[in-house]
Amino acid sequence: MSEYRITESESESKALALLAYYGIRAERGLYVPKFDQLECEKCGSEGADPTLPAFLKAEEFKPTVTASPCKGCGGTSYKLPWYVVDLTFSRRCKIIGEVKGTKSSADDPKKIAWLRAHGYWPVIIRNEMVAQPEDFKAVCQALAIAVGTDKPDKLWEVELA
Ligand SMILES: [Zn+2]
Repeated sequence: MSEYRITESESESKALALLAYYGIRAERGLYVPKFDQLECEKCGSEGADPTLPAFLKAEEFKPTVTASPCKGCGGTSYKLPWYVVDLTFSRRCKIIGEVKGTKSSADDPKKIAWLRAHGYWPVIIRNEMVAQPEDFKAVCQALAIAVGTDKPDKLWEVELA
């Protein structure tokens, strides 16, 4: 588990505790560069840099980037917009988790639409899901199939009658 944010919501901490219990690893608070929505620093024209990585740690992220010359003015310096995602289960498969109720706003339809259109798989984690650990187990089983688990026995234990 990585470091905790100060403004962590209750449902996010519950979700993290359950994910840890079921052995699902997640990175927290990664930046997703909106590589196709660069904005020229000089004239505001749009640009793109498809070579940007899908995820960056907060300390790796830079709000301005250099890319191929702007169609409007020939400049090469652009503002880089971004999203922060609550949880990242797999960078390779772009499987992420958004916890509803945090200020990063899982309800932002534009954010979810952009992420989906660019090959990310947002798993929306709602308050009521983390309130019931047995319900959340099904989510963790699905995640474990995709990204693995350290504790398969917790997810697929044999229940005795
Ligand atoms: Zn320009």
